[in-house]
Amino acid sequence: MDTVKTNNSDKVISWNPSSITRIVSNRVYLGEMIYGKRSTNIAGNSSIIRHPQEEWKVIKNHHEAIVSEELFEQANKMLHGPKKRDTSKKKHVLVGKMICGGCGYALSFKPKASYCKYSRFECSRHSLLKIPECCTHFKADILEEIVLKRLNQELMIWGDSYQQAGNMEAHYESVLRSLKDELRDNKLEIENVQAAKKSLYESYALSDMTAEEYKEQSSSLTMQLESLQEKLGELQEKISVVEQEYDVKKEDMKKIIRYSHMEELTEEIVDTFIKKIYLYHDKSVEIEWMFGEKI
Ligand SMILES: [Zn+2]
Repeated sequence: MDTVKTNNSDKVISWNPSSITRIVSNRVYLGEMIYGKRSTNIAGNSSIIRHPQEEWKVIKNHHEAIVSEELFEQANKMLHGPKKRDTSKKKHVLVGKMICGGCGYALSFKPKASYCKYSRFECSRHSLLKIPECCTHFKADILEEIVLKRLNQELMIWGDSYQQAGNMEAHYESVLRSLKDELRDNKLEIENVQAAKKSLYESYALSDMTAEEYKEQSSSLTMQLESLQEKLGELQEKISVVEQEYDVKKEDMKKIIRYSHMEELTEEIVDTFIKKIYLYHDKSVEIEWMFGEKI
């Protein structure tokens, strides 16, 4: 890149996109003098107020222009005009999920090009590692078809197993109900033991029993209470585990119902269902699904 040496110092300034943008859009080169871009707040503090372009003051023909209005407009149109998008390099929906089954490295996506009529995935490490099981190339459109077909099959299996599980919701509801019943009974027992402890102390205070008797009964109640409280903790823990598990199952089911049949792979679908896809040299495809376990 070319560099420019400024007159008044030895500092070297490099050309870069932002310095070029600044120069191309600077109206001073048109012979204009602009002021009123900023002002300082007079109300005591010295903060700077930036004014919108419509409020700037412009003096035309202030000095001799070094670029014509026409050239200036043209250059700025190029600078701010719509950017041309290279659609051939558009990210493939399966990029990021693809792994070479031979070497375990990510497969790279190669879009259609003049030297190859179809877009494809290929192992970028094969030329280096020469592992025979590496997937040297796999047509992207065939892969998409395979993945879509397998996904629809998989969804049918998931859907069936949910039905066969015989009303998953009813199952979780009943498990939770009995756990909560147990929890309620446990809490009642704790209250009872606490009340018993209190009345025991009252009897002792009223001298209805000896210190020995009190001590013995009190320690028995304390032990009972400790064991009940331990059970309370366990039950609460169990309920929260089952509730979390139930939430996950409900979410899974919602997804399955929502995508019961798919016509096309989208980024959202791929991210919802697919963890990784492994391609092998013999053109076999292995898909790792997001749903780890099935009911
Ligand atoms: Zn490989």
